[in-house]
Amino acid sequence: MPQEYGLFIDGKWETPKDAKRFSTRNPATGEELGSFVSGSAKDAERAVTAATKAFRAWREMPAPKRGQLLLRAAEVYKRRKDDLGATVTQEMGKVLPEGKGDVQEAIEFIEYMSAEGRRLLGETVPSELRNKYCMTVLQPKGVVAAITPWNFPTAIPNWKIAAALICGNTVVFKPASNTSLCGVKVVRAYEEAGLPPGVLNLVTGPGGVVGDALISDPRVKAVSFTGGTDTGRHVYSKGAEHLKYVHLELGGKNPQIVLNDANLELALDGVLFGAFGSSGQRCTATSRLILQEGVYEKFLGMLLERLKSFKVGNPMDREVDMGPVASADQERKILGYIDAGTKEGAKLRAGGKKLTGGAYDRGFFIAPTVFEAKHGMRITKEEIFGPVLSVIKVKDFEEAVQVANDVDYGLSSSIYTKDVNLSFQAMERLEAGITYINAPTIGAEVQLPFGGIKQTGNGGREAGTSAIEEFTEIKTVFVDFSNRLQKAQIEG
Ligand code: NAP
Repeated sequence: MPQEYGLFIDGKWETPKDAKRFSTRNPATGEELGSFVSGSAKDAERAVTAATKAFRAWREMPAPKRGQLLLRAAEVYKRRKDDLGATVTQEMGKVLPEGKGDVQEAIEFIEYMSAEGRRLLGETVPSELRNKYCMTVLQPKGVVAAITPWNFPTAIPNWKIAAALICGNTVVFKPASNTSLCGVKVVRAYEEAGLPPGVLNLVTGPGGVVGDALISDPRVKAVSFTGGTDTGRHVYSKGAEHLKYVHLELGGKNPQIVLNDANLELALDGVLFGAFGSSGQRCTATSRLILQEGVYEKFLGMLLERLKSFKVGNPMDREVDMGPVASADQERKILGYIDAGTKEGAKLRAGGKKLTGGAYDRGFFIAPTVFEAKHGMRITKEEIFGPVLSVIKVKDFEEAVQVANDVDYGLSSSIYTKDVNLSFQAMERLEAGITYINAPTIGAEVQLPFGGIKQTGNGGREAGTSAIEEFTEIKTVFVDFSNRLQKAQIEG
C-alpha cells in the first residue's frame, strides 16, 4: 500500500471525511509513490479561511524575522536535498542531477528572498512643497493562491511561496496533481522551519476543482500561476471576473540560432542540454534549432552522431542522459506531434518513436527526436514539451531572427556566434523575455527576472527583484509636517 498523505490546513495535516484519493506513479517504472487527497472546493475554502486568519499576524511580523524563518526552510531543504532530489526524479522523470538541481534552485531562491526581508525597498522623493515627505512603502497583497506545474516541482512552488511569504502574504498552494509528493515535501520543510499555522496551506487535487475554487474566492487577492497557455487563458479570464491580480507564466517555443562563425562544439553541447534536458519538458527547452546554411549539414551531422550514444533509461541511473516523459498524457501528446511532423513532410532524422522492450515497457520513454523541418509546420510553431527538436535552415542572420520571432510565444532564445555586433543585435531583436548569447536556452539564475512576452505570459516576471513586485502593493505616503493646509499644484 502506498503511503497516504493529507492536506495541510491551518498548521495541521488532515484527511477530510469521505475524501477521495488519487496516486502518483514513477513514470520510469510505474511504481506507486503515494496516495493523496483529491481536494474539494470546500477544502480550498477552508484553506483560504486559514490563510485569511493568519494574514494579520504574519504581515505584522518584521520582514527580517520572516526572512529568518525562510532561511530555516532552506536549511531543511539542504539537509534533505538528496531525498527530495530523488523524489523529483522518481515523480516526474528528470535525471537525478537535474532532480537535485531543482531542489538547489529552491534553496538558492529562498536564500535570495530571505535577504529581501532586509530590503523591500520603497522610494523617498522630494515634495514640491515645504515640510512634506513623499515616499512609497510596499505592502503585502493578502492571501495568494500558488498554482504550479509538474516540471519543476520544488523550484517553481518555492519561486512563488518564498517570494509571497517574505512580502507578508499568506499562501494556499495547489501543486500539479502528478507531482503531489513533491508538493507535500515542499510544504513539510516550511512546517519544520516553524512557520505559524495558516501561513502556508496545501490543497492537493484537480486543478479544475481546487484551482477554480481558489481563483473564484474573493478572499484570495492574487493568483500566481505557472502552466500551459490554454489553462492560463482560463485562469486569467476566471480571475478577471473577480478583477483579481493574476500573474501568468506559460508556454514557450524557444529557438537556438547557430550562425556560420559559431563555435560548433559549444553550440552542440548547448543544444543537447537545451533540447533533451528534462526530456525537453522545460518551459525554456530548445525546440527549434535554426542553422545558418553554411554550417547546416556539418552541424546536423555532429548532432546526429552525438545522439547515437545518448542513453535513455531510468533517470536514477547515473549513466543515463535522459529519462522518461512525465506521464501517459505527455507521451500521447508528444507522439501525436511526432506523427503530425511526419505527416506534414518533416524529415525524421533521429528517434521518432516510443521506446519499448524490457524496462522501457514499464514507463513512458520516447527516443530523442530530430526533424529537419520547414518553418511554418506545426512542430515548428506549437509547444510540444517533449524531446523533439525541429532543425530549420536559414540563409542569414536576418532570416534567423525572422524565423525565431515568428511564433506565438516569447520565453527564451539563444544565439551562438563570435560576432559581437550580431550578438547585440540579437539581444535587441529576439522577441523573448530571455536571450542567451553562446549558451543554451535553459539555465535561469534566481537573482534575475524570469518570464516571457507574447503568449508566454501577461507581462510580469518571477524571480529577481521582480518577484517582489508580483507579491506587493505599492502604497504612496505623504507626510505633511508644516502644520497648515498645503495645496499641491496650486501653491507656488
Ligand atoms: P497545466 O496542465 O496547465 O497545469 C498547471 C497547473 O494548473 C496544475 O497545477 C494544474 O492542476 C492546474 N490547473 C489545471 N486546470 C486548472 C483550472 N481549470 N484552474 C486552475 N488551475 C488548473 O500545465 P502542466 O502540464 O502542469 O505544465 C506544463 C506547462 O507549463 C507547459 O506549457 C510549460 O511551458 C509551462 N511552464 C511554464 C513556465 C514558465 O515559467 N513560463 C515554467 C514551467 C512550465 P492539475 O495538475 O491537477 O491538472
